[in-house]
Order: sequence, then C-alpha cells, then structure tokens
Amino acid sequence: MSQTSASASASALVVVGTGVAGLATALAAAPRPVLLVGGSPPGSGGCTALAQGGIAAAMADDDSAAAHARDTMVAGADHNDYDAVQYLVGNAALAVRWLQAQGIAFDHDGDRLELGREGGHGCARVVHAGGDASGHRLLLALMRAVQQAPHITWLPPSLLDAVRLRDGRVSGVGLVELATGATQELACAELVLATGGCGALFAATTNPATADGNGMALALACGARLRDTEFMQFHPTALDVARTGALPLITEALRGAGARLLDERGRALMKGRHPLGDLAPRDTVARRVWECRQAGGQVWLDARHLPGDWALRFPTVFALCLRHGIDPREQLIPVTPAAHFHMGGVAVDLEGRTDVAGLYAVGEVACNGVHGANRLASNSLLEGVVFGRRLGRHLAHVRLHVPAQGKERWVDRGVAADPPALDQLRQLAWSTLGPVRHGRRMAEAIERLGSDAAIGASWQGKLMERFLQAASRRRLSLGAHYREDAAG
Ligand SMILES: Cc1cc2nc3c(=O)[nH]c(=O)nc-3n(C[C@H](O)[C@H](O)[C@H](O)COP(=O)(O)OP(=O)(O)OC[C@H]3O[C@@H](n4cnc5c(N)ncnc54)[C@H](O)[C@@H]3O)c2cc1C
Repeated sequence: MSQTSASASASALVVVGTGVAGLATALAAAPRPVLLVGGSPPGSGGCTALAQGGIAAAMADDDSAAAHARDTMVAGADHNDYDAVQYLVGNAALAVRWLQAQGIAFDHDGDRLELGREGGHGCARVVHAGGDASGHRLLLALMRAVQQAPHITWLPPSLLDAVRLRDGRVSGVGLVELATGATQELACAELVLATGGCGALFAATTNPATADGNGMALALACGARLRDTEFMQFHPTALDVARTGALPLITEALRGAGARLLDERGRALMKGRHPLGDLAPRDTVARRVWECRQAGGQVWLDARHLPGDWALRFPTVFALCLRHGIDPREQLIPVTPAAHFHMGGVAVDLEGRTDVAGLYAVGEVACNGVHGANRLASNSLLEGVVFGRRLGRHLAHVRLHVPAQGKERWVDRGVAADPPALDQLRQLAWSTLGPVRHGRRMAEAIERLGSDAAIGASWQGKLMERFLQAASRRRLSLGAHYREDAAG
C-alpha cells in the first residue's frame, strides 16, 4: 500500500468502501493503481467486521456447487439471476482458497476445513474462522494484503459526498475527510461503490450506522437504476436489548449446533411450521418470531445444552451476551427479528456496471440478482469476494475514456434527515416494511412521506419512498417480502 498522498488523474480508479467487497475489488485490480476510500478507520465501520457465521462454499466430499446453487435458488424463491448464481457457487471454493492465500486461517477439524450448518443449507457448508469471528478475521487478512499491495493508496478515513459527472459519465468524486472535515475533489475515470447495505434505515437492525443506504442514494441521484429494493432480509435472532444502535446478532450457527427457539411458554416455536424446523429459511423463522412478538409474546433461544467451550466455539456471541448480563450457558437468550441484509440495491450486471458510465457497484450496495428475493445464509461474504474479484480484474484492463471537455455537474444525495426525523423514518420503515407488510399501511406511509417535509424531503425519506413503492407494487408475497394482505 502506498503511503503517499493521492495523486489523482483523470484516468484514476477510486474504490469507496473498505469492507469485503471494496478490499477484494481493490486487490484484484492490480497492477492498476487504486485510490481506496473508507468512511471509518480501517477494520471498523461496515458489516463485514460483524459477520459471524462465515462464508458458504461446497467444500465437503458429499457436497457440490450444484447443490449450493439449488439451495441458493430455493432461498431466493427462484427470483435469482441464474447466471449470477452459477458464477457465485462455481467460484466459491476458489474464493476460499484465495482467502487462505491472503492469510486467513479458517477453522479446521483435523486436516479438514470445519464446516458449519446454517438455515436453508441442505448440508454443513459454511467455512468459518476464529469460531464465530469470521468477518473480523477475514477483514484483518484482507487489510494486511492491501497494506502490502503497492498498487493501492489508502486515503485517510473520508466520506464520499458527491460525484462529478461530465456529459453524464463519472469524472470525479468529492470527499470529506473525517478527522478534519476538509473537502477534497479527485478526478477519476471509474468509481466503484462498495458502501454496504441499508439496514440502519430500520429501527431494529443488526447493521452499523454506516450501512444507511447512502451509496444507493448517491447512485440514484447520478441516474443509476435501483432494483429489487423491496427485498430486505430480517434476521430472526438479534439480541432483544435496547435499540440504541446495531442490535447484537445471535448467529444462526447456534441453531445449526442444536439451539432451539422457544415461545414464552417454553414450546418449540418452529415445530410443525417448516420441514427444516429451526433451520428453516430466515424469512420463515423471522416472520414466526415477529408474529409471536406482535401477539404480545416473548421469544427465546435456548442454547443452554450446547456442548463444548463457549469461549472457543462462539466467542463473539458469548461475549455479546455476557456484556448484556446474559450467561447463555445457563440462561435463555431473548431474541427479536431485525433488518439484516438487503438483497436489492444499485442495479448492476455481472461486471458490476451500473447504468451510468464509469459508475460501478459491488457487495451489499449492489444488486446483480444473485440473492433473488432472499439471501441464503453466508452467501454475502462470498458475493463480496467473488464479484469483487471479478470487478477488480475487469477494471484492471478496462479504462474508459473521459472526454477532457464536456458539460459538468456535481451530484449529491440532497439534504439529510436530522436525528429526530431519522428516528421517525426508522420507526416508519420498521412498522411498514418489516417482516410482515400490508398494502394499506404502506400507502399511508407513502402519503406521510409526501406531506411531512422533515422526513419526506430528506434523501433517506426519498430512498424509503422508493422502497415503499417497490413493495406496494409487488402485491404477492415472495421470499423475504411478505404481504399479509396478499391473496393465497
Ligand atoms: C451482524 C452481521 C453478521 C453477518 N454475518 C454474515 C455471515 O456470517 N456470512 C455472510 O456471508 N454475511 C454475513 N453478514 C452480511 C455481510 O457481513 C455483509 O453483507 C457484507 O459484509 C457486506 O460487505 P460490503 O463490503 O458490501 O459492505 P460493508 O462491509 O458494510 O462495508 C461498507 C464500507 O463502506 C463504508 N462506507 C459507507 N458509506 C461510505 C461513504 N459515503 N464514504 C466512504 N465509505 C463509506 C463503510 O464505512 C464500510 O467500510 C452479516 C451482517 C451482519 C450485520
């Protein structure tokens, strides 16, 4: 990694976002110089660092890419882009080996990779590191690789604030340095958005505050198309504690290891609801937990009987529970559904191209259709690695020409909601676009956004209006999009 300050030229490549997708893209673009921009200090900020379960790949002798593809399509309710799925699963084992080459030490059982089982997977297929510290380990390994990569210049923590378009194609970016508030303009030919998802727009979420959809809002302002925005995955088991920020996630791997969901009377919550029981696809489990809670009940995860040393097997969950006064070896864990992963995003092709020349998107901010209407667990770190590397390799060779002259304009997201308005928006999203939706509630929410300028005129409000419109248009339930007013 170059330590020198940025020397941007009109042909520069800028990658924004330092989670798995941005880092994989930047590494794969070698030897083309990359200016890497992250909105938080290295190693923190995004969802990647929080990932617990791991990365899905058919690595077992009795498993196959075809079986992985099948499970991905079933979870995605067949709404998936078939080519994207084939590319993802066909490159999964390679992605794991590439990560190992970057220095990540996945957990082993003897001389074999230890594989976890998660909801929707027909077999144990999830490679992990440091027990449930997979994302953190993965991020550290990729950051070390970036630091050793001579073609990457990592700029001081800065936020992407605006994009310059010349004759409708990307020609520059406007950054705000976090430490000083100083603004900087960089010329560039290609801009990659790897800014993560938008779960933080919901009142209950496992996502950090940076995952607020700001990349999507900027792409939209530039003229890019969004796609599948109605599909938000709700994780069924976030720790049910005060909602002051991201809710701690209680990984599905616990249920894979035998933990059971119980209602307030101690009855098995998923019994008779789905053939896979507690390991049914997330939308099914999340809806069941939501319904139970809406009816005034409490939902618990019983992991007391799990064998082994918690500090070794599930160090992250163990520490999170203890921090909130719960000893999972002896106590039930209170859980709630929470917005977790956005299947939709900036519409891209398999090369990460948006509709705007020079603008690319990859990772959770993007949507190439790979997840369909519902993501299969642990397919998203994989998506970041597989499609990030594909995009990086593409950009290593493709250089678009930015005309020296042309009509220029700066594009930004527009006004941001102030904190009280943002709180209201997040509540509105939770009650209308949560695990269970209704056409009437969504219509009322659209009306409210139109009449209440404090929330409706902000970029977050406008983004939410898009989500509401997409969800209203989809009258039937599909995958994670569930309408209680849908017939049949
Ligand atoms: C608690 C939790 C557990 C998860 N567990 C798993 C798992 O086990 N397996 C799995 O496959 N997936 C898991 N996921 C999902 C997965 O972590 C994410 O989908 C994936 O990490 C997204 O990667 P990304 O690179 O697209 O975005 P992120 O990792 O979110 O990175 C986005 C980056 O962009 C930066 N950024 C945002 N806006 C700007 C801006 N304007 N300017 C500059 N920088 C900006 C952020 O600071 C951040 O660094 C989990 C998610 C959560 C929240």
